[in-house]
Amino acid sequence: MAINFDLSGKVALVTGANTGIGQAIAVALAQAGADVALAGRSEPADTLAGIAAAGRRGLDIRADLSTIAPVAGIVDDTVAALGRIDILVNNAGIIRRADLPVFSEEDWDAVVDTNLKTLFFLSQAAARPMAAQGAGKIVNIASLLSFQGGIRVPSYAAAKSGVAGVTKAMANELAPQGVQVNAIAPGYIATNNTAALQADETRDRQIRERIPTGRWGRPEDIAGAAVFLASPASDYVTGQILVVDGGWLAR
Ligand code: NDP
Repeated sequence: MAINFDLSGKVALVTGANTGIGQAIAVALAQAGADVALAGRSEPADTLAGIAAAGRRGLDIRADLSTIAPVAGIVDDTVAALGRIDILVNNAGIIRRADLPVFSEEDWDAVVDTNLKTLFFLSQAAARPMAAQGAGKIVNIASLLSFQGGIRVPSYAAAKSGVAGVTKAMANELAPQGVQVNAIAPGYIATNNTAALQADETRDRQIRERIPTGRWGRPEDIAGAAVFLASPASDYVTGQILVVDGGWLAR
C-alpha cells in the first residue's frame, strides 16, 4: 500500500491563519490538495493568496474565538461554502505574561478561553459531521508548555497542558467513529508571538544555544507535521502530542 499524504478532495478549517504557524499550515494543506476555510479576527489576505496560488479554494470566516459563540456557525459556513469538513486545525492562541502574585483573572480567562475552551467546543462542532461521514482529522496546536511550566505564563501553561489532555480525551471517544485527534507541540518558532524574544539579543542567543538544532523553528517546520497528521498517512496515529522543537525537550 502506498503511503498517502494527498489531501485532494478534502476540506480543512484552520483557526488563526492570517499569520505565523496557522498561515503556514493553511497554505501547506492547500499545497497538499485541500480547500481551506480560515477562521479568525483579522484579514487573512496573504494566506488566501497562498491557497489560491496552490490552485485551491479559500474561505474567509471572520470570528472572534475568545468565546465559543461562533463555533457552530464556523462549521456550518465551512460546510455550506466548501461542501464538507475533513480536517480541523485548532491553531488560534494568545499568551499573557505577568508575575504570579499579580496575575489577573482577566489574563487567566482570556488565555484559557481562547486556547482551550474554544478549541474543545469547535472540535465538538466539527466532530459531528466528521463522525457522520466516518472520517476526520483534528490537529491541535499545543506547546512545550504542555510539558513545562515556563515563567510568568501560568494561564498559558495551564491551557496548553489542557490541550494535551483534551486531545487524548477526544481521541479516545472519536476513534471508533473514524476521527483521529492529535496535537503538535512547537518549540521556539519565529513568529509575531515570539518577536520580543527574537529582538532581545541576549535571549535570542540563549535560546539558539539551548536548541540542539541551533536555530529557531520556522512556521513551515510545524506545517510539515500538520500535513502528516491531516493525511491518510497518519490514520493509525491518534491521541499523540508530536513535539517539533529542534530537540529542545531531548536535551
Ligand atoms: P501568532 O500571534 O502569529 O498567531 C496567532 C493567531 O491566533 C493569529 O492568527 C491570531 O489572529 C489568532 N487569534 C488570537 N486570538 C484570537 C481570537 N480571539 N479570535 C480569533 N483568532 C485569534 O502566533 P503563532 O503563529 O506563533 O501561534 C500559533 C499557535 O502556536 C498558538 O496557539 C501558539 O500558542 C502556538 N505556539 C507558538 C509557539 C511559537 O514559538 N511561536 C510555540 C508553541 C506554541 P489575530 O491576528 O486576528 O489576533
